[in-house]
Formats: sequence, structure tokens, C-alpha cells
Amino acid sequence: MTDQGAGPAMSEADTRRRAPVSAEPGRRVTPASEEQREAWQSGAMPVVERVRPGLWSIPVPIPINPLRYVLVYALELPDGVAIIDAGWNTEEAYTALQDGLAVAGYAMSDVRAVLVTHIHPDHYGLAGRVREASGAWIGLHPADAALLHGRYDDSAIEELVARERAMLVRSGVPPLSADELSGASRIIRNYVTMAGPDRLIEDGADLGLPGWDLKALWTPGHSPGHLCFVSPSRRVLFSGDHVLARITPIVAVHPQSGPDPLADYLDALAAVRHLDVDEVLPAHEYRFLELADRVGYVMAHHAGRLAEIETAVAGADGAACWDITTRLTWSRPWETIPAFMRRAATNETLAHLVYLEARGRVRRVPGEPDLWYPAG
Ligand SMILES: [Zn+2]
Ligand SMILES: [Zn+2]
Repeated sequence: MTDQGAGPAMSEADTRRRAPVSAEPGRRVTPASEEQREAWQSGAMPVVERVRPGLWSIPVPIPINPLRYVLVYALELPDGVAIIDAGWNTEEAYTALQDGLAVAGYAMSDVRAVLVTHIHPDHYGLAGRVREASGAWIGLHPADAALLHGRYDDSAIEELVARERAMLVRSGVPPLSADELSGASRIIRNYVTMAGPDRLIEDGADLGLPGWDLKALWTPGHSPGHLCFVSPSRRVLFSGDHVLARITPIVAVHPQSGPDPLADYLDALAAVRHLDVDEVLPAHEYRFLELADRVGYVMAHHAGRLAEIETAVAGADGAACWDITTRLTWSRPWETIPAFMRRAATNETLAHLVYLEARGRVRRVPGEPDLWYPAG
């Protein structure tokens, strides 16, 4: 699998070292585990950790991706474990999950539930195999469950690619580039076992796991059906990709996004900002303290990006999304950014443009491409 394999499904993948988007480190948060942070920084795999009594963190490797691993959390139950997220569908990932569960004293067959934060392949890809091995139920938010067929079914993939291409044309992505950029979904599909959910998890749902007061929070934006999970008594938030210690997740307009994903995302940030928790347990990097500070930083980051894009639109007076994207500040020269990341960057710019449009700050003249102008 090459770089081309990383499409919008990869989400924040690659944002750390190579991505043009949101790569600045931002304000430092306090790691909750020095060991885990050091592993992250040195390029090592973190160890399997007991985070709290009855709660384990298991790093599961992700192929060809600078994020390197997803942190799967295992929650002890009277008769086994529930896991939050599963990993990519590779042998290496399956083995790492199996070995991690063994450190905690469990076998794969002891998994009773797989709570999936969202359908990106690094979180959901392995869920089907875990269910096959254990009989666990898989839980997803309905908004992500609704996307499964279009995203991962062989019969639907061509349609998704065609819609992606049409969207890129309307963004003014050069034609050769548009073809090159829209094929990644096909490759991503190989890393996912298509596995429908057994349960749909709605906002505010009590998961009903014995010994856990675990509640679901619907936090759309990065994915339409993204879920966080909070345990008030243990004072922890499982944040998935919604809030991470260093990077900000990609929030982009694409064929499977909501119409205004950035508005959803900012609302969903506000919804978790003041949760009364001591520790944030994210799906990547390392766990940390100071949820409210980190959320405030991410909000400020998007406010800054909105201002920069509004200024770029004013300066161009009739430019396609692609042209605006090339004029923004990136962590490295635009020409050196790999093609698939340029697509992600364009789709992320589009999310900001759509947000500004909905608030009357810019306007669009539809066409091929759509052209963007200052409001008024
Ligand atoms: Zn993701
Ligand atoms: Zn992820």
C-alpha cells in the first residue's frame, strides 16, 4: 500500500509529520502518562498500561501511517471485557490486540462488546474479526452506521469515487490531479472487514456495561457519527479522534460528510469542553489532563483558520477552493505535499468556506469550479 492509500477515511492520519493541516503543536497539555508520551515522542510503541483499576490501554499498530498506533481501551466486566475501538484489519494489528488483552489477563474470546468511536479504518477495521472470534456485539452511532455500505461495500465504491471526483472538480482541483486524488477509497477498503453494527448507540445512551457508568456522547464533525464515551464516576473521557493531545483531527467536506461539518465539530467541542473529568483518553498519541484548555486551543485554531481563509477569499475575489487552499500557510511548501494530502487539505478548506458561507461571510457562485467571493 502506498501513500495513495490514505484518503479522507484516514482522517487526521499523517497530520503530525507530513500533513499540511493543523500540524502545529499548539499549547502543551500535561500528559497523564509520561511513559506513553515518551514512547510517542521517541517513535516507540507505548506499552500496554493499566490506566485505572479495571481499565487498560492497548496500543495497536496502524500500517503506513505516522500516527503509528491506535489506543484501544479494554474495560473489565464481570464476564470479560468491552473494548473501545479495535484497530485496522491487519494480522499485525490483530496479534497486537490479542497480546495486549493477554497482558490484561484476557483472550480475544473474552471480548463482549466493541464500542466504535467512528468508522475510520484505524478504529473500525478490525471490529468484524473481533466479533467473529468472540461473539461480541459491535456498537456504532447511527449516522456512521448509515455510511458503511457506501464506504466499504464493493458494489458501492465506484459510486463513491465518482462523487469524490465530481466534488474535486467543483473545488477546482486540476483534472489530472482530480483523478489521481479520488482513487484512494478503493485501497482503503482493503483494510476493513465490512461488519454491520449489532447495536446503534444514540447520544446520551447508557451503555449498560456492568460495573461501568459509561455514557455515549455524540460528537459529530470529524465523522458524522463520531462518539465519545464518558464515565462520571471514574472521571475519564474516551475522546476517540475528537480531542487529541497535539494534533487536531481533520474536519472536511467530502461525499460522506454532513453539509457543514465544521459547525458540527465546533458545537461538539463545546459540548465536551466542561465535562467534569480528570483525564482524557484519546485514540492516538497519549492520554492527558486539562480537557477544557485543550478544547479551547482547538477552537482558537479553527477561528484563526477561518480568519485566514476569509482574508484569502477577499484577496482573490473569485477563486476556486483549490486556489485558495494553495495560498494558505502550510507546515511545508505546497508543492512538496503528497497528492492525497492535498486532497484532504482542499476538503478541509472547503469545510471552512462552507462554514463562512452559512454565516454570510463569503459567497459562492456555483459552477465547475465553484468560485468564492467576499460577502456583499
Ligand atoms: Zn478518524
Ligand atoms: Zn483515528
